[in-house]
Amino acid sequence: MQFGQTSDQQTPVNFNDRKDSEGAVSEGKAFNRKGLEVASTCGDPSVATIFVARTRPGDDTSMIEFVDGLDWNHPRHDKWIINVSTQFGCPVGCRFCDAAHRYHGNLSADEMLAQVRHVTDMYPGLAERCRKLKVHFARMGEPALNRAVLDAIERLPATVNSPGLWACVATTAPRGTEDWFERLIDVRDRHFRKRFQLQFSINTTDEDFRQDMTAVRLLPFKWIRDYASRFFQDGERKVILNFALGRAVPFDAHKLLRQFDPVTTCVKLTPLNPTARGAENGMSGINREDLERIATMLNENGFDAVLSIGDPREDDIGSNCGQSVRRLADRR
Ligand code: SF4
Repeated sequence: MQFGQTSDQQTPVNFNDRKDSEGAVSEGKAFNRKGLEVASTCGDPSVATIFVARTRPGDDTSMIEFVDGLDWNHPRHDKWIINVSTQFGCPVGCRFCDAAHRYHGNLSADEMLAQVRHVTDMYPGLAERCRKLKVHFARMGEPALNRAVLDAIERLPATVNSPGLWACVATTAPRGTEDWFERLIDVRDRHFRKRFQLQFSINTTDEDFRQDMTAVRLLPFKWIRDYASRFFQDGERKVILNFALGRAVPFDAHKLLRQFDPVTTCVKLTPLNPTARGAENGMSGINREDLERIATMLNENGFDAVLSIGDPREDDIGSNCGQSVRRLADRR
């Protein structure tokens, strides 16, 4: 979700001599048998590798990005994070997100699973040994606006053979997606019991401000609270309320305690990452001390609240949502 670095600031990974498992060069314009034309590969494999690809040869409206990521506290065989695009851009239009500058429709389930296979095939045999392999349906795009995301989640266990396979969804909860969320409970119960993470990215405790940050109408906090109470079951992860907190973005811990139930939801606090669109809209993240103060206050009042501050090298790499596609598109 951020932008701000030039391509010179990236740490490029030299994949020029490398072949993927299906024989196509990883860098360049070969259209591999997974159905992806990889246009660029950059980053640092010890932090995150970002792929920009087209799902239709030569067609820039089919450009997506996906990420082979790590938790910096764990080696890849312990924890492996794959982020896939669910839409070509995003219609939600969050004021701080670089994916928001374009939207060309939904990906199919095949196109989402091709991203997963592209990453897992780079490390033959590792998925089978990985203790926790999390596939995030999050970037770019709003998963709840694409019914094929549910099909992709259902087909994920047949695509990736891993005992530690998790499915993760991050959503803003657009209006009109209630049926999608009903089916999500069913898919979770059939395929991912105790291995599913659901996150509502709400970013502020002020409903009007939240609505003002997006171009689409959103379901109210009350709906999220009620849904979380049905989604959460014994042994399952609590539903995450994610706040990417920026300066001048309203956050009232006391209000949050009235709005949501600490039995069914927990809080994740992250600083709003630097993005081109955020800068255009005068938005920047709050500092670590303020995040820690808020987390302590929430913890003292019964909420599980954690700080999620990524590896600072991620900002240098420019690995945030929409950043890589925007960078490539801007160069054209
Ligand atoms: S933050 Fe997510 S929902 Fe918002 S515009 Fe970006 S991709 Fe879409």
